[in-house]
Amino acid sequence: VPAELRLDALWKPFTANRQFRAAPRLVVGAEGVHYRAADGRRILDGCSGLWCVNAGHGRREIVEAIQAQAARLDYAPAFQMGHPGEFRLAERLAAMAPPGLDHVFFVNSGSEAVDTALKIALAYHQLRGEGTRTRLVGRERAYHGVNFGGLSVGGIGANRRLFGPLLPGVDHLPHTHHPEHNAFSRGQPAWGAHLADALEDLVALHGAGTIAAVIVEPMMGSAGVYLPPVGYLERLRALCDRHGILLIFDEVITGFGRLGAAFAAERFGVVPDLMTVAKGLTNGAVPMGAVLVSEAVHRTFMEAAATPIELFHGYTYSGHPLACAAGLATLGVYEDEGLFARAAELAPAWEDAIHALRGRRHVTDLRNLGLVGAVELEPRPGAPGARGFEAFLRCFERGVLVRVTGDVIALAPPLVIERAHIDELLGVLAEVLETID
Ligand code: PMP
Repeated sequence: VPAELRLDALWKPFTANRQFRAAPRLVVGAEGVHYRAADGRRILDGCSGLWCVNAGHGRREIVEAIQAQAARLDYAPAFQMGHPGEFRLAERLAAMAPPGLDHVFFVNSGSEAVDTALKIALAYHQLRGEGTRTRLVGRERAYHGVNFGGLSVGGIGANRRLFGPLLPGVDHLPHTHHPEHNAFSRGQPAWGAHLADALEDLVALHGAGTIAAVIVEPMMGSAGVYLPPVGYLERLRALCDRHGILLIFDEVITGFGRLGAAFAAERFGVVPDLMTVAKGLTNGAVPMGAVLVSEAVHRTFMEAAATPIELFHGYTYSGHPLACAAGLATLGVYEDEGLFARAAELAPAWEDAIHALRGRRHVTDLRNLGLVGAVELEPRPGAPGARGFEAFLRCFERGVLVRVTGDVIALAPPLVIERAHIDELLGVLAEVLETID
């Protein structure tokens, strides 16, 4: 680390602060599927940055679009004006999404997208005169960002611990992954769809007409890559329809080709009422998120717009011109290069490469779908997470970036990855596992 950089001045997110100061990992450049470290080493990017750089780093089309937009129009206040890029991006995004999700609300991150979707869901029922629908339902282990709404519906207890009571009236559906039923399953596990019926129990417990929305990650990412059991999402959709509950898909990770289709909704054939996206929307180049909204929900707000109770929501940087330019260029790259289809084509080889780790030291489960993989390690007795973190550090020493949650190593490379890189990524990981106690 260059001497002029004072590591203390910056408070980095989460525990990464402590970890980073112990072993600083400075990057100064990135191109394609590689980062360039300050010491000149190339680091293979095994997690698309943080699940966002789906088209690979340093894409000229995106860089040039941002540069041109910055020179033309730097900023326009979303509350008072519009600019062409935001309309174009909204239209293009809606066209890419499953039919019915035709309206787009722009925000600046995944966390903002989640809180925006929850507010839209609550306001929707209020506007329809169903003021008793104020409850929200999430899932155990789910990650929906760090703002208060997302933290409340999120299901990772440790993340919520220091922040008080959070939102009232939230329940969590049970975790669907059980090692005895679906360890080492390839693709979607067969067992667990019936756990969606816990929603029926919540309706019975709290009374009909009390639940506003159910929010789920169609595939759980941050908690350690848990795929929905076959039929689970379909069952949730049916229950939501039966009880007048809105279904929200948080596609912040699953969006933009990660699972071999534009969105998980398409991949699984289940269309939600609201869908959150971020990350891959701008290929990580500029912060941006969005909520896609169904015709029925949107219409409710448009019809109410003449009354004094219009939705008050939006951010200074909603639909920021630079983000819209980056988003348009990004969606262009995805489409021009057929990257979602490419992810689907690579998926079988990816699956085989992941499952080739079966039998390796410490490995207790392997999971995969599209271009996502997870390698779960048996926790070291008395030191959960230690093996995972050591694996992360040793991979980095050997020029590979992976993402670790506890003892689960998550892999989600850019969709432009080549077969040789896949072999390198998993080869390094396999070697590293042998070196860990
Ligand atoms: N939802 C999901 C499913 C996510 O994976 C994340 C980020 N990992 C978020 C929301 C929050 O996004 P952000 O970090 O951009 O606020």
